[in-house]
Amino acid sequence: MKLTPHFTLAELTASATAQRLRIDNTPPGDVAQRLLYTAEMLERIRATLGVPVIVTSAYRGPVLNRAVGGVSSSDHMTGEAADIVAPRYGTPYAVAALLAPLVSTLGIGQLILEGIGGKQWVHVSTRPPQRAVNRILTITATGVRSGIHQLA
Ligand SMILES: [Zn+2]
Repeated sequence: MKLTPHFTLAELTASATAQRLRIDNTPPGDVAQRLLYTAEMLERIRATLGVPVIVTSAYRGPVLNRAVGGVSSSDHMTGEAADIVAPRYGTPYAVAALLAPLVSTLGIGQLILEGIGGKQWVHVSTRPPQRAVNRILTITATGVRSGIHQLA
């Protein structure tokens, strides 16, 4: 099912882990509604980057979230977040650096550049964090920093 011109519900609920462990990752109705808002945010991001955006993980139901070791308060569990890369634009750092000054314009509640275990991606959520200081972060194995920082 197409949520927006470039993003489908299947894309936003797909998970290799869910497939491997045979976890049903079908979202409930309220989550599906939030995934639509997430897809709309992704369209704005795609238009800004001018290249396709690849979603590596969006909705994670409770069982899948536990299986991947996600935090229990994760915006992925409510359908409000997506992890993305856009290799045709550049590195996740380049993507995050472009988006950081535009979060309000693009309706990005939270922007996180993540680099963990040799993988890098950009986490975007439609929901702003409780503390404004946490709106734009860089998270690596060594910790959490405010703002977007070049990954080692
Ligand atoms: Zn994420």
